[in-house]
This record gives sequence, structure tokens and C-alpha cells, in this order.
Amino acid sequence: MPAPYDLTRQELARLLEGEPAYRVRQVWEGLHARARWPEEMTELPAGLRASLQAALPAALREVSRRTADGGRTTKWLWSLHDEARVETVLMHYPDRVTVCVSTQAGCAMACQFCATGQAGFQRHLSEGEIVEQVAVAMRAARPRRLSNVVFMGMGEPLANYDRVWGAVVRLNGDMGLSARHLTLSTVGLVPGIRRLAAETLPVNLAVSLHAANDTLRDELVPINRRYPLAALAEACAAYVEASGRRLSIEWALIDGVNDRSSDAAELAVFARPLGAHVNLIPLNPTPGYPVVGSPADRVRRFRDELRAIGVNATIRATRGADIDAACGQLAASAAGPPVPAGGVRLLPGARSR
Ligand code: SAH
Repeated sequence: MPAPYDLTRQELARLLEGEPAYRVRQVWEGLHARARWPEEMTELPAGLRASLQAALPAALREVSRRTADGGRTTKWLWSLHDEARVETVLMHYPDRVTVCVSTQAGCAMACQFCATGQAGFQRHLSEGEIVEQVAVAMRAARPRRLSNVVFMGMGEPLANYDRVWGAVVRLNGDMGLSARHLTLSTVGLVPGIRRLAAETLPVNLAVSLHAANDTLRDELVPINRRYPLAALAEACAAYVEASGRRLSIEWALIDGVNDRSSDAAELAVFARPLGAHVNLIPLNPTPGYPVVGSPADRVRRFRDELRAIGVNATIRATRGADIDAACGQLAASAAGPPVPAGGVRLLPGARSR
């Protein structure tokens, strides 16, 4: 059975064969612009409502739903048709409501410090499985309007390019979200960044850098061995030039690993020519990585060092850490991810928990 948001408009029209033509628009807008399930579309006759609901069951089955930060952060754990599990996080801020969506069950990128990477890759999510996470968040955000979508949950968006881009087009064209409020985050897949540069929708791009010398980045973000910093910088420059958008760089500060003055200096060399904005995140704890995040005063000092050498930098407030909903903590299991085979290797200079 198709997931409601995997259906194209043509497929919906086929499903509604024999109904008046305007039903297609009604149902399409009901699903997308209003984020309603067929059974809630009171503008439809009851019989049609029921048969549509049966034909289009939700793709996401709620396993658990937890809140934190005084109700301002919600994390869902979903089970999919094949029992694969993913998570979605909704965050309320004074000026915006943001949902963080997953694009894959698990992740193949194997970043050491990330709970999803520690768990390994299961499968790509479909376009509909991605869009439905946003629809659910829209419903839960009410009466506020969901304004922002960040593709920063489980998985590597640019490794699942076509389905992710399909979701972007649907969110923008059918759900009314501005492209400027959609952010794709990547570990640095150069071919994907180049494809993105050729798209016409100006979405935001965030690159998870975490190290600006190849030796350290090879360790922290293994895909760097395939796409080293020089190639990544070139692709980022092409993206900035083509899109006219400002690039974001994500930097999870790891105590004694990438939070020294020399790290700030290297980061500046990478970030300045791109005019990039740096988001600093103190590393969140994960079961498979024994190094701690930088203390708060070090995080502030790192930001100040960057600013002093001409780099725009801000510290990102952590959300949902006590329900394992913070950056890098999504593992889609109640028990936490398995510790990687072979154990973990401590980096020189790193302080263990
Ligand atoms: N694969 C994409 C999307 C995941 S986004 C990417 O890497 O960008 C998740 C963000 O959280 C990335 O910037 C990632 O590097 C960061 N992250 C991963 N583990 C983390 C941790 N333990 N603490 C803080 N940030 C982490």
C-alpha cells in the first residue's frame, strides 16, 4: 500500500477515478497544505473519507513520543512498514518552529562521535517517509505554524539525493514552506553539493566540518578520505557562487580534539574565503564515543577567537539532550545504539568521560 506522501498527483487522480475532478485538488491540498489525514477531511463524503484512509495508511507508526525543555522539544520514534526505525525532533523557539527530519534509517558515513553513524546503515527513506515527518510536525506545532525544516536527523541527505530533493520540492511547492527555511546538512559529499549547486530552489546548505585539516578530519569524518578538504572547499565555493546563499559550517567542539586555538585558525582558513557562518555545538555524549564536549567557557573562547580572526560564529543552544534528541544522539532505539565492533580509539589529546 502506498504511503500517502509517496503518491504523485497523477497517482492520486487514478486512486480517485470516478470521483468529481475537484476531489483530486481537495485531497492533495488536504494532505499537503493542511497536513490532514483523509479521515479528517470533512469536506469529503464519509464513504470516500473512509476508503481513502484505508487506501493510504500513514507510513510512520508512533513507537514513542517524548518531550523536553518544558514542552518546547518533542522527539518521536517511528517504526516504518519494514520495522526500520527513525526519529524526528520538533523544536519551538520564540521566533520560529523547526522540525529536524531523518533521511535514512541509520547512516553509512560512520562519523565516530555520532550515535547514528555508530549504528550503521539500514536503508534510505522514501520521499513520502521524509515528507510525512514534516506533516506530523505541522500538526503537532498547531496553533503555531511550522516554519523551518532542517535535514539534520538520522542519515546523510545527499547520499539519498533524489528522494530528499523530491521531498524539498513537495515541502516548498505543496506545503508552502519557503526554500530559505529549508536546510540540508551534509557530511561533505562533493558530488551531492555540486548537484545542489545546479538546482534552482535556493535552500540552505550546512556542511558538518568538525576539522579543517585532513589528518584530523580523516579520523572524525571518514568520508573525508574520499572527498578531502580541498575538494570540499571547491564544491562549497561553487555552491555559494551558484546559489547566492550563505554557507553554514557545523563544528561540534570536542574537548582537546578540535577546540584549540590552532583549530580555530585552520577553520578560519577554510571558512573565510567562503564567507561561511560557523555554528558551534558542544559535542553531545553518545554511547560509542568516549570523549566529552568542550566546557562552556572553552566554547565561548573558541567563538571569540574565530570572531577575532574574521569568522562569523555563533553557539547553537542544545535542545533535547535529556531525551537523547540533541545533535548526533538519534539512534532510534530505546536502549541506545550498539557500541561499534572493535571498540573506539581515543584521539591524542582527548579527554575521556
Ligand atoms: N549526515 C548529515 C546530517 C546529520 S546532521 C551531516 O552530517 O551533516 C547532524 C549534525 O549533528 C551534524 O552536523 C553532525 O556532525 C552533528 N553531530 C553528530 N554527532 C554529534 C554529537 N555527538 N554532538 C554534536 N553534534 C553532533
